[in-house]
Amino acid sequence: MLIDLSEILSTEGLTKSVEVHVDFDSFQFKGMDYRIGQADDFQLNLSNDGKNRVKVTGSTDVVMELVCDRCLEEFERTFHIDIDTVIDTSVLDSDKVDEIDELSYFEDCNIDMDALLKKELMGLVPIQILCRDDCKGLCKVCGTNLNHGTCNCDDFVPDPRLSVFNDILKN
Ligand SMILES: [Zn+2]
Ligand SMILES: [Zn+2]
Repeated sequence: MLIDLSEILSTEGLTKSVEVHVDFDSFQFKGMDYRIGQADDFQLNLSNDGKNRVKVTGSTDVVMELVCDRCLEEFERTFHIDIDTVIDTSVLDSDKVDEIDELSYFEDCNIDMDALLKKELMGLVPIQILCRDDCKGLCKVCGTNLNHGTCNCDDFVPDPRLSVFNDILKN
């Protein structure tokens, strides 16, 4: 969804509220596919913040469908997005590369809401995705999900300090 900012940019003191509809149901990030479970429409507030500047605020909850890194089960988690930014279009005429890069979701006087929301979500997805902090994961031998049950496999994990000791003995 594109939101045209030309009126807001050119009208001093103008404030506007726009209903945002989330158009995408998945996005790619670091080679992974992330699926959106639920994303309701929400209000985005726009206000002229001086010459070439628009203040953009709004917040919403997005439910994402994730896969646990440890037990490989799918689960849903809600991420709260807070948008609170000032778009300063004058940087586009400058050589401030970093700031222009920050405005990757802004093009031809439009905010690309999909791009902005994806950027926000990428900042919220944790590096390690766990269904819960104490997820027990899968048995390395038989693959049983140890959150749901137990198995009779020998789960003896050699102490890494001992393996160093063994290496010394071997030499
Ligand atoms: Zn898990
Ligand atoms: Zn097992």
